[in-house]
Amino acid sequence: KRIGFALVGLGHLTLEELLPAFGQCKYAKPVALVSGDAAKAKQVAAQYGIKSTSVYSYQNFDTIRNNPEVQVVYIVLPNSMHEEFTVRSAQAGKHVLCEKPMANTSAEAQRMIDACEKAGRKLMIAYRIQYEPKNAFVKELVRNKTHGKVRVMEMFNAQNIANNGQWRLDKKLAGGGALPDIGIYCLNTARYLTGEEPEWVMGSVYNTPGDERFRQVEESVLWQMRFPSGILVNAATSYSVHQSRRYRCLADNGAWFGLDPAFAYHGLQLEMSQAKEQYDWKQAPEIPEQNQFALEMDHMAWCVLHNKEPYTPGAEGLQDHRIMEAIYQSAREGKPITLKTPQKPDAFR
Ligand code: NAD
Repeated sequence: KRIGFALVGLGHLTLEELLPAFGQCKYAKPVALVSGDAAKAKQVAAQYGIKSTSVYSYQNFDTIRNNPEVQVVYIVLPNSMHEEFTVRSAQAGKHVLCEKPMANTSAEAQRMIDACEKAGRKLMIAYRIQYEPKNAFVKELVRNKTHGKVRVMEMFNAQNIANNGQWRLDKKLAGGGALPDIGIYCLNTARYLTGEEPEWVMGSVYNTPGDERFRQVEESVLWQMRFPSGILVNAATSYSVHQSRRYRCLADNGAWFGLDPAFAYHGLQLEMSQAKEQYDWKQAPEIPEQNQFALEMDHMAWCVLHNKEPYTPGAEGLQDHRIMEAIYQSAREGKPITLKTPQKPDAFR
C-alpha cells in the first residue's frame, strides 16, 4: 500500500526532483497538486497520472480535507508560506512534510509544531541529507570514533545566486539569505553527524557594498560552533562564489574523512585519508547512490503506515532556527552566544 502525497508549489524542486523521484519510491505516490497556476497544474497532473479533480488552488486548498487519497501534504513553497500551509494542512486532517528551512523564524516553527500536535498529525522537515547513505556512513565514523575522535569539522555550502527577481532575494519571502537557504545544510548536518547540539556559536555576516542582490538578504556568513564533546565546527556559506558543497571531519587518530560534494542532489563522493597512507582513496568503501528525495518521501510514508515519529520532526527544524537566530545575533553583537539547549540523550550519540 502506498501513501498518497499532495505537492504544494510547482517550482523547480517539485518539477525537477520530487515528482520524478516518486518513480523510485516504495511507499509514497503523488495523488494531488496545489498550485497558483491552474493550466500548469493540469498539465503536470496529466503527466503523472493525477486526477484533474485532485488539482487545487491556494484558495480552495482547504477542501483537500474531503480527499481521502491525500494523507501527506508536501509543502514546497517559498519559506514564508510554510507556516500557513502547514497549519491549513493539519487543520484539514493531513500529515505534513515541509521543505527546509522550516519557516522564517523560530516563532513560526513553534506554531507549526503546535498546530500539528493539536491536530494529531505528523510533521517532518525535509532534511534529505539525514536519509542519504553516504552521509549516514560518515555519521557512523564520527559517532563510533572509527578513526579516533573527531576534533574539528570544516564545512562549506555555497553557490552564486542569480539576480532574476526570485523570492530567495526577498527578505519577506525567504526570511534570510545564504544561511537559511544553503548554510542550513552545514548546520543541520553537523548536528546529525555528531548527534549533539551546539552549546556555543559565533558568527559574522558580510554583504558586498553595492551588490544589488544583497539589498535585503545576506550574502555570506561564516560561523563557528562548539559541541559538548569538544568538537569544533568551522562553517561558511555564501551566495556569491562558485558552487562548493563539502565537509571534512578531522579526527585525532591521523585520519580525516568527509564528502565532496556532500550536499548536492547527485554524485556525492566520499573522501578519506589514513595515517600511514595519506590520500589512499581505496580505503573509501563503495556505497551505491540512491535518490535522496525518494528515500526522504518514503520515510515519511513509512512513518504514516506504521504510525511512527519521523526521524527529522518539526523539533529538528525549530532547533536549526534557534541556532541560526543565535548566529545572526552573534554577528550583530560581535560576541559568542551561548545556547541553552539540552544535550541529546546518550542513546543518540
Ligand atoms: P521555486 O521558486 O522554484 O518554486 C516556488 C514555487 O512557489 C513556485 O511554483 C511558485 O509559483 C510558488 N509560489 C507561490 N507563491 C509565491 C510567491 N509569493 N513568490 C514566489 N513563488 C511563489 O522554489 P524552489 O527552489 O522549488 O523552493 C521551494 C522550497 O523548497 C523552499 O522552501 C526551498 O528552500 C526548498 N528547497 C529545498 C531543496 C532541497 O534540496 N531540499 C532544494 C531546493 C529548494
